[in-house]
Amino acid sequence: MFDVIVVGAGFAGLTAARDLSDKGREVLVLEARDRIGGRTHYDTLGDLDQKVEFGGTWVVPRYQPFVAHEIERYNTELMLSPTAENSFWVFGGTSKAGGFPVPDSELADLERAVADIIADAKRISFGEPFEQQHLQDLDVPFDEWLDKHEISGATRDLFASYGGALCFGVDPAAVSALHVISWVAGLGNSAWELFNGPTIKFAHGTTELVSAMAADLDIRLSTPVQAIDQTGETVTVTTAAGERLQARAVVVAVPLNVWKDITFMPALSDAKQAFTTEEQAGKAVKLWVQTTGAPRYFGALGWQTALQWLSTEFERPEGSIMVGFGISADDVNVESRESIEAAVHQLCPDVEVVDWWTEDWNNDPYSRGTWTAFRPGQIYRLHGPSRAQEGKLTFATADVAVGFSGWIEGAIESGARAAQDMDALLSSDATAQ
Ligand SMILES: Cc1cc2nc3c(=O)[nH]c(=O)nc-3n(C[C@H](O)[C@H](O)[C@H](O)COP(=O)(O)OP(=O)(O)OC[C@H]3O[C@@H](n4cnc5c(N)ncnc54)[C@H](O)[C@@H]3O)c2cc1C
Repeated sequence: MFDVIVVGAGFAGLTAARDLSDKGREVLVLEARDRIGGRTHYDTLGDLDQKVEFGGTWVVPRYQPFVAHEIERYNTELMLSPTAENSFWVFGGTSKAGGFPVPDSELADLERAVADIIADAKRISFGEPFEQQHLQDLDVPFDEWLDKHEISGATRDLFASYGGALCFGVDPAAVSALHVISWVAGLGNSAWELFNGPTIKFAHGTTELVSAMAADLDIRLSTPVQAIDQTGETVTVTTAAGERLQARAVVVAVPLNVWKDITFMPALSDAKQAFTTEEQAGKAVKLWVQTTGAPRYFGALGWQTALQWLSTEFERPEGSIMVGFGISADDVNVESRESIEAAVHQLCPDVEVVDWWTEDWNNDPYSRGTWTAFRPGQIYRLHGPSRAQEGKLTFATADVAVGFSGWIEGAIESGARAAQDMDALLSSDATAQ
């Protein structure tokens, strides 16, 4: 029998398993996919000799202490994404190359909008559960917050595009303003730090850190868990292959959108069931595109466009390798050259699209979505209970993090907390016996 079975080998599960092993606990990790890393995946682009991140990429160690700690522990090398040398903006119904995203006539409005978001960010005590603070008025649709603050024109499009769509992978109507503003709070009450967020990445990919964390762990790949039964003396974990494994306790480290696919006995709390049924809203499309003829180190943002972001990550002899983000697979049909060309041309006119690649996180049964975007009201109704221990089960995933839900940071934070809670539970059980 194991002390702990950890279900899921993303950053949260690996942190929990590693920390529990460090405390001398006997741990087994069960992972559904044939690889570790979960919603991070560093892999090769088709036949090109180029590796890219298909999932989680950028970190902000200055403001993200959990990921900073891991980077230091494993001496992981970081690098900067390239700075755009040529920019393009599609806001307020007009396109323009270079310059500033909003017209001069709106600079004062932009200044006021940034001041408003920072003022609300300063109300947040980052690191303490949001739902335990007096912030309920912010747990409303982000577009309602934009209306309330009378943010309009290109400035509104910039906020909708960057704050809602790019940062959360959803329409601003579908994400809680509290979630958006919490990221400004977490990044030192700076809207600029958030805008500058996609800057620092792992020089050798997230794989390097993930592999270092997993190095001494007992991990079984390609082992989806089907049921977790804690009605007996010990917890029984049943895999899809029918194997039954016993542990004193279990860390459930799968995304909240997939809790519903595991049979829990007894059933999860009503709040957890509601959360996994409603799902967190993040369903972005992250696209890699090989182009020729693009301006060198290009970067574009847009609103009411199929992609909201397109920027060059690598200049190669074969052309520019660009990364794009969009909020809807309907607008960016990765099966159709016509759709991809149309989407790319909105943000980078006249370029030739050679090839493109993506990973379908939204239809993947082991993620059912991309990164966390809490729907309006979910933080106050469901976020607290989503973190609660249930008997001998503890929950770890970026989706239930106290701070940076939606980031690698949040996953590590939740895994570290789960390991602490689990260790305390096992110690108190041992004392009781
Ligand atoms: C496209 C994209 C872009 C992103 N960009 C960034 C970024 O730039 N910066 C950033 O910080 N974050 C980013 N993120 C978010 C970040 O990747 C995640 O927050 C983080 O990796 C989540 O880690 P996790 O351990 O909570 O969950 P996951 O990584 O999803 O890990 C859960 C694991 O559980 C496994 N699993 C699921 N069901 C079962 C089952 N039944 N049995 C066994 N195992 C199961 C899964 O296979 C997976 O390995 C991005 C995510 C995506 C998808």
